[in-house]
Amino acid sequence: ATPTALLVGTGRGAQLGILVRGPEALEQTRRVDTVVLDKTGTVTTGRMTLVDVVAADGTDPADVRRLAGVLESASEHPIARAVADGHTGAVEDFANLPGRGVRGSVDGHDVVVGRPALLAELGHPLPDPLVDAVDRAEAAGRTAVAVAWDGAARGVLVVADGVKDTSAEAVERFRALGLAPVLLTGDNERAARAVAREVGIDDVVAGVMPEDKVEHVRRLQAEGRVVAMVGDGVNDAAALAQADLGIAMGAGTDVAIEASDLTLVRGDLRVAADAVRLSRRTLGTIR
Ligand code: ADP
Ligand code: MG
Repeated sequence: ATPTALLVGTGRGAQLGILVRGPEALEQTRRVDTVVLDKTGTVTTGRMTLVDVVAADGTDPADVRRLAGVLESASEHPIARAVADGHTGAVEDFANLPGRGVRGSVDGHDVVVGRPALLAELGHPLPDPLVDAVDRAEAAGRTAVAVAWDGAARGVLVVADGVKDTSAEAVERFRALGLAPVLLTGDNERAARAVAREVGIDDVVAGVMPEDKVEHVRRLQAEGRVVAMVGDGVNDAAALAQADLGIAMGAGTDVAIEASDLTLVRGDLRVAADAVRLSRRTLGTIR
């Protein structure tokens, strides 16, 4: 999964921790004017923690916790890691629904964990108290996922993520290079806005399905923009491949790395800006 370790410039790339797939990548880097950033795991740490468990009337919160935890132990998603948190157990007929949630059988129950809209689509709308729980969580800039089993929504789990301490400075560096930053995420609008505010991004596109991430990159390109995309997830892979310059986080998934031109070994977003600056300078001197 490691791209060819041909390094930017005169060995500076190696020092910075940038892996480059091929020389063509550098040519693109020079022309980039827009940088699209995935939120979870790219701008934020992606190390989410479970901060609240809410159960529907008549449901034991411990059951919400356990059934969701066991199901999510079969997923690698940052939300799944927070929800699983040490739970283990057998999951049958596991299905990953990218950008939506997960489904599978635990202890003989058909369990779904995912975005509230997914549960509604599956015919398990949330009762009012759970809708309120989602609303409160999102208003606080958090991410709420809903839990259903045996045909009814039965709980809500709230997870929290933190912005990487290097992200705000990275956004400043992008701007200094004349790159317009855009935050693109499958997460809810309010959580996305809270992160954007913290790092200084105004342009936010939230609630996006994985297949629409690539559409958004195409739309920007159709406007004549030359787009760098930075991401880490399976759900970012198509957009990373579509972007004029795809940049993966080193700790990201193999598919994201394989779809990208550059990989940031340490996952520090500032290095993405440095890569652009460095390659502009390097190419400037070769020409
Ligand atoms: P992002 O763009 O922030 O990386 P994703 O596209 O991976 O987010 O996911 C979008 C939304 O889909 C999440 O905010 C969550 O509501 C839901 N989701 C995705 N995967 C899971 C999962 N394993 N468990 C629960 N919810 C999930
Ligand atoms: Mg991500």
